[in-house]
Amino acid sequence: ATPTALLVGTGRGSQLGILIRGPQVLEQTRRIDTIVLDKTGTLTTGEMAVTGAFPAEGVSRDELIGFAAAVEAGSEHPVARAIVSGAAAHRSQVPDAEAFTSHAGFGVQGIVDGALVVAGRPSWVQGEWSIQPPADALANADALAADGATVVMLARDGAYLGAIAVGDTIKPTSAEAVARLKALGLHPVLLTGDNAGAAARVAAAVGIDDVRAGVTPAGKLEAIRDLQSAGRMVAMVGDGVNDAAALAGADLGMAMGGGTDAAIAASDITLVSGDLLATVDAIRLARRTLGTIK
Ligand code: ADP
Ligand code: MG
Repeated sequence: ATPTALLVGTGRGSQLGILIRGPQVLEQTRRIDTIVLDKTGTLTTGEMAVTGAFPAEGVSRDELIGFAAAVEAGSEHPVARAIVSGAAAHRSQVPDAEAFTSHAGFGVQGIVDGALVVAGRPSWVQGEWSIQPPADALANADALAADGATVVMLARDGAYLGAIAVGDTIKPTSAEAVARLKALGLHPVLLTGDNAGAAARVAAAVGIDDVRAGVTPAGKLEAIRDLQSAGRMVAMVGDGVNDAAALAGADLGMAMGGGTDAAIAASDITLVSGDLLATVDAIRLARRTLGTIK
């Protein structure tokens, strides 16, 4: 294609809400054969809601939600926003947190009333913080996850405090977008830091067979590299800080418009609407501009 054709293509993209970093990106977009999709905030709305609170013995439900909201207040993760609004809806007392630290793809920590509170992915809370929840709490967390919930575990000064289940809503256009990506000849992969149950629920609903769950942010980049080593041309679509490395490492990074600045900065294309159908538009636009479809 001539430079003029490429400029016309990128111009047409911006009319469609597809912001393309530079004309050369269209060539990458045309050659993609595999599309890796993040779950939370990409296939799902990312507007999560608390669906259950399971305090440890001797802890009240309000205390559990209050501590969770205190340490999650500083995080922009969809799970954190759900917990903060859940606390507001329940009118739970939310204490102040200090020394807040966010661990992308894992959880958060902070000091609340002089105690170290951690909230996050069950494997992280148990492995990284050496928390041992009682057997019934572990069984309950497994059952919630198998049911498709995202599970957040909490601990205070090394003691298990309870778990909060959070649910997500699949975007109304995700299934259609996946079907159309397949029709364009692309192989879709679901890649998520969330548990296998939550991943399977979303994968089944949108029509994806290739699912990789429980993946760390570094693991997301590794998954991209593995696909590339197998000879695939890989697009990654994501919204979170946890997706940034994978977005940058993919042959084509596409960020959701409502996503984090880190995801947008790491990407070649920003989909302003956050609608996955825009990925279909982007690929069709690239193929048209470069003359591979009529
Ligand atoms: P995804 O890949 O689906 O976008 P992430 O990699 O962001 O998910 O997160 C993976 C898991 O880590 C989440 O499902 C959640 O269990 C946990 N997690 C991440 N951030 C937080 C947080 N701020 N608070 C609690 N848990 C979190
Ligand atoms: Mg995400």
